[in-house]
Amino acid sequence: MSSKPLNVNEDEIAKFERIASQWWDLTGDFKPLHQINPLRVQFISQHLAQHYDGINSGFSGKKIIDVGCGGGILSESLAKLGAKVTGIDMGTEPLNVAKLHALESAVSVTYQKITAEEKAQECAEEFDMVTCMEMLEHVPDPASVIQACSALVKPGGLVFFSTLNKNIKSYLLAIIAAEKLFKIVPQGTHDHDKFIRPSQLISWAEENNLKCIDASGIHYNPITGNHKLNDSLDVNYILCFRKL
Ligand code: SAH
Repeated sequence: MSSKPLNVNEDEIAKFERIASQWWDLTGDFKPLHQINPLRVQFISQHLAQHYDGINSGFSGKKIIDVGCGGGILSESLAKLGAKVTGIDMGTEPLNVAKLHALESAVSVTYQKITAEEKAQECAEEFDMVTCMEMLEHVPDPASVIQACSALVKPGGLVFFSTLNKNIKSYLLAIIAAEKLFKIVPQGTHDHDKFIRPSQLISWAEENNLKCIDASGIHYNPITGNHKLNDSLDVNYILCFRKL
């Protein structure tokens, strides 16, 4: 047993525990995640088809692990498309909500309370794809999660990360506009210091045998609710990597 402390910020976990009951309320605190989710699924599907799926069977039977799955918005979507999804998170309430919702939706997803680092020790190179969405900005050591995601995926498999860029624009939009002015997400959801520049994320990934094959902005207008994939990585962005 390693004596290394868990790569978990308990205050961050507590924030999500408190609002977990709202996870599937399409008009609540997780509204932005519901709105951008189809864009994430579109991005992942496109790369599955282009860069992984030689025989073109789509998601069917693909083993995917969703790291920091929360209440299961993305996990369920991928399972509905036929993937065999494992969702992991360190929040008890988000996982409870995820399990209940999967039952209600009659979708099969395996949910587990475990860190990415521990899971990587148990299940090295078992997954076709790893998704880790909007989670890296909530952990003490994001590079360690990236290392674990690389360890979890098979050689040639795909890893997807999404997070928030670190600059003035992301501060104004994600903190000032979304939290303070329009109160779209609860105040204190994000700490701008924990936002991650794409160049930094890519460099951590490259140190762990992950080659970046695509990057896209996820544009979200908190006022109009308008959302689309675009070329600007200024605020929310999503990256696709292939394990060498
Ligand atoms: N990935 C989901 C939820 C994002 S919210 C989605 O995009 O739809 C961030 C999630 O990360 C929360 O559920 C929180 O409990 C989880 N989280 C934060 N720190 C974590 C850690 N160290 N290990 C696992 N999950 C963590």
